[in-house]
Amino acid sequence: MSKRLYIETLGCAMNEKDSENIIAELTTKEHYETTDNIKNADLIIINTCSVREKPVSKLFSQLGVINKQKKSTAQIGVCGCTASHLGADIIKAAPYVDFVLGARNVSKITKAIYQKGFVDTDISYDETTYMFDDIGANSYKKKINISIGCDKSCTYCIVPNTRGTEISIPKELILDEISKAVDSKVVEVLLLGQNVNNYGKTFSNKLIKSSFVELLRDISKIPKLKRIRFASPHPLHMDDEFIKEFATNDKICKNIHIPLQSGSTKVLKDMRRGYSKEWFVDRCASIKKAVPHSRISTDIIVGFPTETQEDFAETIDVINRVKFDQIFNFKYSPRPNTVAKDMPSIVPDGVASSRLEQVIALHKAHLDEKMPQNVGKELEVLFEQQKEKNIYVGFSDNGYQIQVKSDKNILGNISKVRITNFHRTYLEANIK
Ligand code: SF4
Repeated sequence: MSKRLYIETLGCAMNEKDSENIIAELTTKEHYETTDNIKNADLIIINTCSVREKPVSKLFSQLGVINKQKKSTAQIGVCGCTASHLGADIIKAAPYVDFVLGARNVSKITKAIYQKGFVDTDISYDETTYMFDDIGANSYKKKINISIGCDKSCTYCIVPNTRGTEISIPKELILDEISKAVDSKVVEVLLLGQNVNNYGKTFSNKLIKSSFVELLRDISKIPKLKRIRFASPHPLHMDDEFIKEFATNDKICKNIHIPLQSGSTKVLKDMRRGYSKEWFVDRCASIKKAVPHSRISTDIIVGFPTETQEDFAETIDVINRVKFDQIFNFKYSPRPNTVAKDMPSIVPDGVASSRLEQVIALHKAHLDEKMPQNVGKELEVLFEQQKEKNIYVGFSDNGYQIQVKSDKNILGNISKVRITNFHRTYLEANIK
């Protein structure tokens, strides 16, 4: 009889992909099936995130609750970035946890479940040539890892300590994974890496060399593949060749996430981001010039320890100039083993909160100005979710969430629609 796996995933798309890989390993090799009911699970896995402080501090209270709810025979595993960062301390603090597996050690899950007290958080482990089983695409999109780790050292970021240095996955393996996926019903891929456009700098086999643009060109030659997305490119590596490929390759969806973090060149330097305000604004302007209907999203951190009011005004200036289509905004929170943690902060918490509110308010004002302009426009949408009986949800190539009514099942279709109504975060449309 199958055993049941309950898995909870926190954090980013990389973590979601790691969870998919964990599920694939356990279902195909260990005969687990997934369940949404924690109480009848035989194995409970929390795939953690440590980029912000809150989920980490919640982990132990969450584990306590799980321990009370679970069957007496059920195992508990902690995986992901917090597992990498806290390691064996998790079992010391919560002895009922059976194993701890770091973000770079996912392929060892089939070993971890058989050893009580198993801890492996090796951030130098190289999984780039490990072929995870495909659990069978249950949708029209597939996440594809193209690299692991990060070769940057942003002063606020814990990721290089939890996911190790950057290594690219060989191109042949990526192309093979996508070719297999499109043989089922997948039509869109999301290429994942901490800095996707740094792809090809380092491989396990030192002789291989490649580049992100080359990879995009080769992927787009896969005939049945219709759409390519990627997350996230680093502003520093956004050269003209990359922008040209983004603009001219028809399979590349025209929305792009460019993490700003701060609009102040001085703060960007303190963050060790490697680019200036002017470079960032210029890259966004070049993208908009090359693809006027493209949409740009970003990440912004307010309240970095050295951020003065003038620095924050620079961030507001960039927001006003770029008018982002989506902003993931965060109040700076110090993370262990980072340089910024030891920087004395000049930003009281109340000031950081107020700056966050100002970013949110300005972004909302921009959306209120931009969203109505879509009414009457035509867009091409991949429908991937049925919300209610006759309501379907999909995404346009430039990343708008679109809802349409249809009496026919349109899941998996790529259709032309005309926008009929707008909301702040999504659009309504009719199929043409
Ligand atoms: S590029 Fe910077 S922010 Fe992104 S994962 Fe690497 S160190 Fe963290």
